[in-house]
Amino acid sequence: MTTYRGSCHCGRVTFEARTDPFTRSVVCNCSLCRRRGAVMATIADPETDFRLLTGEDAIGEYRFHTRTARHYFCRYCGIYTHHRPRSDPSMLRVNAACLEGVDPSALEPALVDGRSLD
Ligand SMILES: [Zn+2]
Repeated sequence: MTTYRGSCHCGRVTFEARTDPFTRSVVCNCSLCRRRGAVMATIADPETDFRLLTGEDAIGEYRFHTRTARHYFCRYCGIYTHHRPRSDPSMLRVNAACLEGVDPSALEPALVDGRSLD
């Protein structure tokens, strides 16, 4: 596990996340995830392994359907930074492409079948 710095595009939203994107990444086929196409790295313990550094007031939240999952994005640049999935809202995943030094195209994410929950 490594602690990464992460940010949106405009830099308002920054965070630290402890994860291993090479073994803990997923893509999801639900109606939202297939449109945005992000590879998400799972944070083992959101209480200790994720820290929002800046941009709390810049974060927008999107919910749909059962409104259980929470999808967070920067309201200024539109970049999707992290989410709490419907399957387990206590879990947190970060957008692997927002992590410094991580090439999301080099990851081999597992598939989450979110479509069957749609
Ligand atoms: Zn931004």
